[in-house]
Amino acid sequence: MKINEEVQKRKTFAIISHPDAGKTTLTEKLLVFGNLIRSAGTVKGKKSGKFATSDWMEIEKQRGISVTSSVMNFPYKDYQVNILDTPGHEDFSEDTYRTLTAVDSVVMIIDATKGIEAQTLKLFKVCRMRGIPIFTFINKLDREGREPLELLEEIEQVLDIETYPMNWPAGMGKRFLGIFDRHNEQFVRFNGNEEETYIPYSELDDPAYADLTGQSTFEDTKGELELLEEAGDQFSLDRVLAGEQTPVFFGSALAPFGVQTFFDTFVSMAPAPGGRRTTEGVVSPDKEEFSGFIFKIQANMNPAHRDRIAFLRVCSGKFERGMSVQLARSAKPIKLSQSQQFVASSRDTVEEAFAGDIIGIYDPNIYRIGDTLVEGKANFEFDELPQFPPEVFKKVSAKNVMKAKQFRKGIEQLVQEGAIQLFRGKRDDSFILGAVGELQYEVFEYRMKNEYNVEVVLESMGERIPRWLKAEQVDERLFDERSLLAQDREGEYLALFKNDFALRWFTDKNPKVDLIDLFEVN
Ligand code: GDP
Repeated sequence: MKINEEVQKRKTFAIISHPDAGKTTLTEKLLVFGNLIRSAGTVKGKKSGKFATSDWMEIEKQRGISVTSSVMNFPYKDYQVNILDTPGHEDFSEDTYRTLTAVDSVVMIIDATKGIEAQTLKLFKVCRMRGIPIFTFINKLDREGREPLELLEEIEQVLDIETYPMNWPAGMGKRFLGIFDRHNEQFVRFNGNEEETYIPYSELDDPAYADLTGQSTFEDTKGELELLEEAGDQFSLDRVLAGEQTPVFFGSALAPFGVQTFFDTFVSMAPAPGGRRTTEGVVSPDKEEFSGFIFKIQANMNPAHRDRIAFLRVCSGKFERGMSVQLARSAKPIKLSQSQQFVASSRDTVEEAFAGDIIGIYDPNIYRIGDTLVEGKANFEFDELPQFPPEVFKKVSAKNVMKAKQFRKGIEQLVQEGAIQLFRGKRDDSFILGAVGELQYEVFEYRMKNEYNVEVVLESMGERIPRWLKAEQVDERLFDERSLLAQDREGEYLALFKNDFALRWFTDKNPKVDLIDLFEVN
């Protein structure tokens, strides 16, 4: 019974956005709600260290509070909130994608002045493939941005998801008056500062508000709203939870404005942890026995501290420090004595955790990404984590040919660990690495040198578009440098197209060859 009560409190989510849309600013405001910091200041400036891993580290450095970079949790109202970071900028990597396998919902921030940007689209696609509920926050309403209707249309068309505006902005930039909060039937007035005034719809006729309601912007917006009520989509929580409709909130993370209303509505609607698929059917979060899977491993870049931390998402039961579990892959027993929970105020040792929580466990080099840990006998494994099609490719070789053995060993282990993907060029049997972002190459190079004592030479192949092929359709003569034929670790064939043009050219010339995009939604 207690387990289920705890599970129902959990709201585990990630914030996805394109750099500069306002993720850090919004996160800071949420931390204020969680009483983890007293007031939010503006976090300025980005990244300094080569291996800076998170915008949150920036908060940590600048505000002098200890924010652990990857996960933050805090109690809010009756809930226990877990926010997972999805690093962007030069820190964008497969880990960013994998984080999305460990959340129950996401908040997508869109900059009202820009609309949908590249990184938002990439992360959105992954959410969509996994059916994760998506809540949208359209940010920077205090600036002149694009028309709200136009933004909604763009979301519907580009992302192919139904939108439901939870609120509707009256004006923007200098003319910004506030928002009609459709969900709570109130007008939230923007006063140009942090103070928001909440006016129930029923009181808007009051002459006291004539200075507001008499403005043409207010009148116009009311008209728009009526149209929306008549012609817009109906709100459906079922569709939201199925990832088919996204509730859209307008506001400003910086002002801040509309953030409280957004967050209150979000936590009340976002799903608690649900069942998770395994090789033996679905495991319910309130199952007695503890279980969880590892979705990320962070190696320490400091050579003096070779330890690694494995990030585990609890999926069922109750985690207790020091408990014994089994690693499903090897059926080896493991005692989880050195565990940490990621709390914004400190890296507290975690004593207990439930489904939806993320814990960090000390990794003496035994875990792999995707590993299942289970209390008692490990007789199931969670579904394998998906591979994410890499975009940046490089040929790699050892600087010193005498080090071929270590070179192979290093690559093999790092690939197995999920740090980077490996392909073999068909023609010359070259080693081709594939990654989602540059950071993965930096980490790869660094770890090859420090852990395997091999210096590597990386030769850029630029961005490439991978398309998988059916073995029976592969004819080596059809491929060249612009459609490089390679094989993945499973021996499956794929072509690495130099650009859209090369891809189209190939399709036109070889209409009978099926090109499979593993990343396509549906
Ligand atoms: P991130 O890269 O997504 O984490 O974006 P930041 O939170 O660092 O914000 C990027 C820039 O946009 C910063 O200069 C912020 O001050 C600014 N910003 C964020 N939210 C708002 C907003 O609501 N209004 C305005 N005018 N600027 C904002």
